[in-house]
Amino acid sequence: MVNMIAAGEVIERPASVVKELLENSIDAGATAVTVAVEDGGRKLISVSDNGCGMEPQDLAQAFDSHTTSKIKTSSDLRSIATLGFRGEALASIASVAQVRATSRTEHSPAANCIEIDCGDKASVAPCSADYGTTIQVRDIFYKLPARRKFLKTANTEMGHISEQFTRIALANNSLDMLLVHNGRELVRLSGGQPLRQRIGQLFSQEMSESLVETESDEKGTRIFALLGRPTASRTSNKFQYTFLNARFIRDKFISHAVKEAYRGMLEPDRFGVIFLFIEMPCEQYDVNVHPTKTEVRFYNANLLHSQILSCLRQRLLGLDAGTPARLPSPSSAKRAAPDQKDAAGLGQRDQKIADAMAEFFKRHKAAQTQPLSSLANRRFTGTGSAPAQKDRDLERMSAPQAGGQETEFMQIHHSYIIHQTEDGFVIIDQHALHERILYEGLKRRIATGKLESQRLLMPESLEITDGQAELLRTNAQLIDKLGIEIVPFGPKTVAVQAFPTLLSGAAPADFVQDLVDLLVDRAGQLDPQHLLDEVLNMAACKAAIKAGQKLSNSEMRQLLADGQRTECSGHCPHGRPTTIKFSLGDLEKQFKRT
Ligand code: ADP
Ligand code: MG
Repeated sequence: MVNMIAAGEVIERPASVVKELLENSIDAGATAVTVAVEDGGRKLISVSDNGCGMEPQDLAQAFDSHTTSKIKTSSDLRSIATLGFRGEALASIASVAQVRATSRTEHSPAANCIEIDCGDKASVAPCSADYGTTIQVRDIFYKLPARRKFLKTANTEMGHISEQFTRIALANNSLDMLLVHNGRELVRLSGGQPLRQRIGQLFSQEMSESLVETESDEKGTRIFALLGRPTASRTSNKFQYTFLNARFIRDKFISHAVKEAYRGMLEPDRFGVIFLFIEMPCEQYDVNVHPTKTEVRFYNANLLHSQILSCLRQRLLGLDAGTPARLPSPSSAKRAAPDQKDAAGLGQRDQKIADAMAEFFKRHKAAQTQPLSSLANRRFTGTGSAPAQKDRDLERMSAPQAGGQETEFMQIHHSYIIHQTEDGFVIIDQHALHERILYEGLKRRIATGKLESQRLLMPESLEITDGQAELLRTNAQLIDKLGIEIVPFGPKTVAVQAFPTLLSGAAPADFVQDLVDLLVDRAGQLDPQHLLDEVLNMAACKAAIKAGQKLSNSEMRQLLADGQRTECSGHCPHGRPTTIKFSLGDLEKQFKRT
């Protein structure tokens, strides 16, 4: 009875059995394991390994509660190097199912086996089997109809089993592993294969190939990560795996560090893909926190957080040079009807850009007679084509830089800037880029004090309710930090007297109105740090150059130069790309020059 109650914590469903049995195999030093499942694990779960095996007397005992060979004294609990230590898994499993265990050590002349039916243990008997251990678990929960009823369809349960199998597989790269369902081989992994190859088999080749690597080693804590690019984000955190000394764990500090590392590069509600491996001395954390051992307690969580964050962030910032253009493959473009641009991989907005590009390239007919790559060092202007009527709509520019090199850019549709780069060109969303520049600038300045402000020649007034006035009072500190000065100005009216110079692109009264709205919406819910961040986001958006705003050459030059000095300039603060890259290679493919 005691076992039945305790079992609830460890054995929730067939996948929990798979997890515990696989962990035991690994602790037993196995180099190969086979998991065979029938009917999503309701009918049978069988795990066989080639590990150290058990002598007959150990086999008889292993299914008793609190039986473990992995710790000897309570002080061993402080440095657990094995996956198991609670001595509860086999007892729990055997209390809720029909179990048959067969085991043979290197030294035994024959194998031994034992059967336990929902806690009823028969005696150990010799049998014939190979070295290692096989545990078969049949008809889970069959004496507990209430719990059996909660099992989901075979497909769903199999999904959970695959997930457990995947976690073990990622953490134990040297292990040969086989997963079979209803006699059908689902996954076969060979031990010692490169991790990327394993990820390719378990997830997809495409995902595996696109991951980038990073590592760091600080004071005995080693971090290794395979990271997805921001452009390959997912809608859930399902593809975020963390392993601590080859144990799959979930940890809110680590999740937070990962989220922070991707900050500003992902749209809200998107998650980066990551396989994160942490190695540290086992004295520096406690696994004895939760029955399933997926939660741990780090003794120095802050240090780990900052190591992970800086290691990942650095790598991601290095990638953040812009989003590669998603061009239709030349063959699919040919198939797509003109009104099916989306099907060919171009959204409406992308199409607008592409149209503008076509117009742009038409002007450079001379280019068509030579390979595009030889254009890399030429100027945008002056290639000798006759000016067309439409050209007047196109702002273009070629300005010598200090180093004698030439920067070439132009504005199209008063919204995008096309800028020639060494190996192609980029299209910049002027609003998104300026937004990012302002946001980073605001954040940097506010971190060290308040924003520099300027007195308005004419104070701007706006009407607010008493409730809103009260909100302005309670958030006086925030408003002061922003460098905004607001004074009462008659009944239900306030006046803005000073306004931050950095936000000169925004109208003061308008801005304060939006600030009030944001405070009404969010002030009660967010901690000061997050509230400030939202305000800065809003401020950057309001003060940034708008789409449709014509820019002078010097304004464009300034914007591009500021962009180069700004962290994370490839994405706006909401995570949308600011810059889309086209390489000459892409173009040559599109124009079928290769
Ligand atoms: P724990 O893993 O916490 O020690 P378990 O109930 O999972 O507890 O296992 C009990 C004991 O049975 C283990 O400590 C180990 O000695 C033995 N055992 C379990 N599975 C195997 C296996 N596959 N090979 C060898 N020994 C095993
Ligand atoms: Mg165990």
